[in-house]
Amino acid sequence: MKPRPLLFFPATLVLALALLLALPGRASAWSGQQHLQITRAAGKNVPDEMADFRAFSWPMAYPSVYPDLWKNDDGTEGVRHYFEPDRLRRGFDLMSLPRDLDEAMATLSLRPDEIGTAPWAIAALTRQMSEAMRTNDWMWAARTGATLAHYVGDLHMPLHATRNFNGQESGQNGVHSRIESDLIRSFFHSEMIRCEPAVYLEDPFLAALGWARDSQQLSLKWLRSDFEATRAAGRHVDTEDYYLTLWNLLEDSIVRRISVTATDISSLFYTAWVDAGRPPIPEPFEELPPYSIFSGVDIQAPETTPGQPPQTQRTYDYMILGFFLGILALVFGSVAVRAFARLRRQKHSPLPPASPR
Ligand SMILES: [Zn+2]
Repeated sequence: MKPRPLLFFPATLVLALALLLALPGRASAWSGQQHLQITRAAGKNVPDEMADFRAFSWPMAYPSVYPDLWKNDDGTEGVRHYFEPDRLRRGFDLMSLPRDLDEAMATLSLRPDEIGTAPWAIAALTRQMSEAMRTNDWMWAARTGATLAHYVGDLHMPLHATRNFNGQESGQNGVHSRIESDLIRSFFHSEMIRCEPAVYLEDPFLAALGWARDSQQLSLKWLRSDFEATRAAGRHVDTEDYYLTLWNLLEDSIVRRISVTATDISSLFYTAWVDAGRPPIPEPFEELPPYSIFSGVDIQAPETTPGQPPQTQRTYDYMILGFFLGILALVFGSVAVRAFARLRRQKHSPLPPASPR
């Protein structure tokens, strides 16, 4: 039997995925890697009349990942990363939601954490970015823009726009990380992004509600694809068969959705700049500070017990330790199985015939 290439051995694939998972990005919508790719593509996609802003796509790319890391130490951060239109009561017109967040939540009789607040965060940050550009505060424009790019990215991720975000209501537990962390990070690369021209958005809040509605619709297709791939793989979702089938089913949809995400972010950057009166754009900054634009928390936990590493560091340490323990278990397991098989062969094989001389 022809030996299978090492790359396609399921255990190897699972280990490779585990290594990818050890990068920042867990519990995000797209992984950190995709947020970075999307923000870079969006920054470069602004119209020619705003061409000087394209250089900002570099310093803004990494900071567009930070909001997921702020969640570690800021309990109020998480609600801005999702919005679930399927929590609205039947017949409620999504587009009629009040622009004032408190009024909207009162109308829905829901707490912000029960449905998410991404569209309100997007509208507010677009205004802040525009005001910063108008007043020549380009550091604040870049920081609010990077944060804005994150929330727009999250809202375009279908599983951040449905109450069944982890398949928990349809027996598909774990589908969130299977798609966003394992599948997309393994198969998607930035050259696949194809942006449409950025356009001026008359009403960023209504645009954001529309993106949420599209995402929620798309979540049904993505969940159905997970169901089909699971069935095709004999319910073994940690196998090569599952991931290859899922990618075949979703490749076009994922590439299109990520491309639309980058396009819509560049449209918001352009809208903010037009609303600011098209001010001159300076040279970009080398880098942006990592702390939250809302609460000031850093991307490392500031409050730790003396002598203990921060929570974020501890989490990654455990992930890396788990990864190496997995490799050790695999190596020792393989050696033990081979030794056992050799022993059995020696025990059961007849004495070799005397060699004819
Ligand atoms: Zn997020």
